Amino acid sequence: MSDRPGVLARLLADAEHAVVLTGAGISTESGIPDFRSAGGLWENHDPMAVASMTTFMDDPSLFWRFHRPRIDMLTSADPNSAHRAVAELQRRGIVKTLITQNIDRLHSRAGSDGVIEVHGSLDRGSCLRCGNAVSMDELCARADAAADGVPRCSCGFPMKSGVVLFGEQMPAQAINAAFDAAERADVMLVIGSSLRVTPVSQLPGVVLARGGRLAILTESETDYDERCTVRIQEQAGPTMQAVLLALNRT
Ligand SMILES: [Zn+2]
Repeated sequence: MSDRPGVLARLLADAEHAVVLTGAGISTESGIPDFRSAGGLWENHDPMAVASMTTFMDDPSLFWRFHRPRIDMLTSADPNSAHRAVAELQRRGIVKTLITQNIDRLHSRAGSDGVIEVHGSLDRGSCLRCGNAVSMDELCARADAAADGVPRCSCGFPMKSGVVLFGEQMPAQAINAAFDAAERADVMLVIGSSLRVTPVSQLPGVVLARGGRLAILTESETDYDERCTVRIQEQAGPTMQAVLLALNRT
């Protein structure tokens, strides 16, 4: 049996500027289902269609009936050993930048600093008309107090959480920071992302084009599988614990 966690540990230890990119697969061990592969219907609606800018604008009550229980599910989940391992790699200075497609804040709660959240975050809510921002607790309190379940701004407009919806612009600042990090990276470790969503799916290509190396720890297949130095199709938590153990031995 090959010691792929050991190979990954050496790759990270030798890197000057290692970047970690995470997706939904790192949070499934925390009990958060992968939104895109969940499938099925919710109240006869396609969840991907409900979690869209179109639904938010046309039928905010339908949007919030779907979104509100998800907020509770996401905020009640706890970071797992993979989130903690990434935070530890940052503390040791081995990982310089952390980019995530997840909106669940589990990296921050595991102790990671400066997380680049390319799909937004559940950190607060805001009004798309006047820009007013409120805390997540306040947003949920307003939703729970409203007869139609829609939290409203003082200007009367429905408010939304900081999560980027389908059909909504990605946050430019985070996207630019992610591409800057990929330009500098000599190693990129992808954890739990199948690298199907643009523009994040382009980041490993940026690293490879500049001579950097790629490691992928994702259970599903990716388009970069043939071009990576280390490929591990296992659960993230146990593998990252093995990587930490291997680093302790070097
Ligand atoms: Zn407003």
